[in-house]
Amino acid sequence: MKIVDMKVELIKIPLKKPFRIAFAVQDHSVNVLLKITTDEGIWGIGEAAPFEPVTGENAATVVEVLKLFKQGLIGMDAMNIEGIHQMMDRLISGNTSAKAAVDIALYDIRGKAMNQPLYKVLGGMSNRIVTDMTIGIDAPEAMAAEAKERVERDGFTILKVKAGICPADDIRALTLIREAVGPDVRLRVDANQGYTASDAVKTLRAFEKVGVEAVEQCLPWWDMEGAAFVRSKVDVKIMLDESIHSPMDAARACRIGAADILNIKLMKCGGLYPAEKINAVAEASHVQCMVGCMLETKVSIAAGVSFVAAKNNVTEADCDSFMCAVDPEMGMSGGFTVEGGVYTLSEAPGLGLSFDF
Ligand code: MG
Repeated sequence: MKIVDMKVELIKIPLKKPFRIAFAVQDHSVNVLLKITTDEGIWGIGEAAPFEPVTGENAATVVEVLKLFKQGLIGMDAMNIEGIHQMMDRLISGNTSAKAAVDIALYDIRGKAMNQPLYKVLGGMSNRIVTDMTIGIDAPEAMAAEAKERVERDGFTILKVKAGICPADDIRALTLIREAVGPDVRLRVDANQGYTASDAVKTLRAFEKVGVEAVEQCLPWWDMEGAAFVRSKVDVKIMLDESIHSPMDAARACRIGAADILNIKLMKCGGLYPAEKINAVAEASHVQCMVGCMLETKVSIAAGVSFVAAKNNVTEADCDSFMCAVDPEMGMSGGFTVEGGVYTLSEAPGLGLSFDF
């Protein structure tokens, strides 16, 4: 099944409200949609959601890199995902969201060719997952009010709370959130590289007292040894996100005992194919995985949710971002339904999305 065409389209995603994390504020994202067409008439859709502070890419660089990939892709077999990743990695290092867009489109094609939904192509464990909902950084009282609304009005059972600017405010926010949502809601925290090692040990011990179960990326991305040190000092689970781009990063983290959970994002690792390798490395080291996301549309969210559903070792999901858009559907029908935090995947082939461009 030869690839005969590839086209790209920019898509702007305005958010309902600005989203603040330790090192950035975003009120919109400009993403790149990709369509790959084959000589058998089967086509697939992919998405790049570049985020400069993490992947070093923006929409303009993604478009340029996809032009480079197009020269290699035309004429290749769409089922040769290994060969296509090798081609992309030889042409340019990094640029993982551009690579993820190609990868997701190829898996959409593979699912359509097999006449199976993507979660079955990838492993087939389940068609349902539960995602958390993320609370951005704000005044602690405002964060607690939002948390209560997300639980009582919207039905979420797991919250991920952004932190990492001021440890005292973070402890106060988590204390107020626990009071607001009660004892049964699962809480995790994401410090987005904002703490020092000593801040982290003190702050995480305070988080333990209010029942936080896991804390993500306490230290700068490059400091995996620091993460291993913090992990040795606290009981709460340590998760790594910005530190883990590749399967090699995952191997290093597992080797030195730096994490209990790895946050895989398709945009950070280059798509589902490398995500499978990260999950395999983690599983072999008795480390679990979560799938997270950038600010993404239903295209790459459907891919990420399918991966979570397919794999036994991917126990957690942070696949909420599309719900924060002014228009979550964005004209893309199908893929999944979501109620509270529960996603149910479509049985339609591939990503199961019925839109075209
Ligand atoms: Mg994170």
